[in-house]
Amino acid sequence: MAKKPTLSPTRVATYLACPVKYRWTFVDARGHWYVRAKPYFSFGLTLHRVLERFHDAGDRGVETKGQALLAYEENWIEAGYDSADAMAEALGEGKQIIERYLDRETEAPRTGRTLFVEKLLKKDMGAFRFIGRVDRIDEHDDGTLEIVDYKSGRESVSEAEVAADLAMCAYQMLLRHAFPDRRVMATIHALRTGDRASASLSDEDLAEFERDLTFIGEEIVRRDFEDVVPVSKRLCAACDFLALCRKHPDFPGAP
Ligand code: SF4
Repeated sequence: MAKKPTLSPTRVATYLACPVKYRWTFVDARGHWYVRAKPYFSFGLTLHRVLERFHDAGDRGVETKGQALLAYEENWIEAGYDSADAMAEALGEGKQIIERYLDRETEAPRTGRTLFVEKLLKKDMGAFRFIGRVDRIDEHDDGTLEIVDYKSGRESVSEAEVAADLAMCAYQMLLRHAFPDRRVMATIHALRTGDRASASLSDEDLAEFERDLTFIGEEIVRRDFEDVVPVSKRLCAACDFLALCRKHPDFPGAP
């Protein structure tokens, strides 16, 4: 029996942004030749790894600021930076982010306790499997489970942005599936400033989100991406696949 296709918040968001980008990223291996390393991915991944170790109760190696900074240097990813100066600047900025994060944790300890870090959640959606990896899940005294998502590039976040974020909605759906008797909420933590905002979907909103996700997921897994035509949009200017799309005769600017 053929394995069920797997979708994730990233895959669905990529498809909604541009089906051609989805093709080159996830369907057609030729797209991989065009993907360039990005400094913001390297930077974000390094910070995530340090915070994962800091919050992991089973990891006794990263508990103090000094240990966190050491882990930061050990986990540093060099890929994607244009120059040594750009990398040095990012390295220094990341150290300040880690220091401020640990200061805040010490000065104003969080309510609740961390249940999971880097937790993979899954749900069978019929035509496809849906998965999501959550940075952290905290449990509060009233039983509420809080998803915490770190954003290394953001300086601010609002409740409305969390409520409208596809990944945050998807994580809540997945967490409710795993813990059906618990209230769930999602929080985005902007690492550069410490700004945080939370939102919680009602049962009705969760049901509606699941219906919409099922609809779009079925469209993705049934679609023939060979015939998808590139359409020029703002996203194209910074897209790795622009050179590929320019080969298509219907794409503006094609030779
Ligand atoms: S260049 Fe534009 S049309 Fe082509 S994959 Fe990227 S975003 Fe989509």
